[in-house]
Amino acid sequence: MNTETISKTNSNKLNGFTTDDIGNDHLFTGLETPMRANAFAMSNKEKKERISILFSEIMDVMGLDLTDDSLKGTPDRVAKMYIEEIFSGLDPENKPKIALFDNKYQYNQMLVEKNITFYSNCEHHFVPIIGKAHIAYKSSGKVIGLSKLNRIVQYYAKRPQVQERLTNQIAQELKTVLETEDVAVIIDAKHLCVSSRGVKDDTSATVTTYYGGEFNTTAKISELQNYINH
Ligand SMILES: [Zn+2]
Repeated sequence: MNTETISKTNSNKLNGFTTDDIGNDHLFTGLETPMRANAFAMSNKEKKERISILFSEIMDVMGLDLTDDSLKGTPDRVAKMYIEEIFSGLDPENKPKIALFDNKYQYNQMLVEKNITFYSNCEHHFVPIIGKAHIAYKSSGKVIGLSKLNRIVQYYAKRPQVQERLTNQIAQELKTVLETEDVAVIIDAKHLCVSSRGVKDDTSATVTTYYGGEFNTTAKISELQNYINH
């Protein structure tokens, strides 16, 4: 297939939109991060070696001199950073192990953990999404260590993401581990693909929400907003 045929096939699949149009509009396809079935056939060591080779090729194509002392370690650094840090949340091995405790204090109102700072990356442009997550839940009889709420956010943030999916993945995980529908997730984030390129809007922010169970009422939503803005 020549390049023209390929791009035509792609644009048919995308209802006439180009991949660029789609990326800039930040559409997303579902709750699960789209991954190949054999995503973990390769070891992390092999993945880092491959990424390093491929990234040096990108740098080389751009004309960068990979023999320069400042640049020669970059492909290895990027590969290590991708696998061990910023995309480590793709690997289920890194999912936080959650221990629940009995709700001994009999605290049965909402618990809000606010201003959880996270760094993610936009899956359409591979540039940072920087934001804050606010999480709330109402105990179904079990409580979770507060730091675990933070860890759940960090795990799902460390993937190529779109904010809608990040919000829903965190909410889904909270519902599963806390065994309740009564969870809320609010994410307020800046996308560098919007501020540093494209439309170059430095002031806009994106807010996404998930209000499950008892949180899905006007009264609870405004109570929650009060705590977050306080
Ligand atoms: Zn983007």
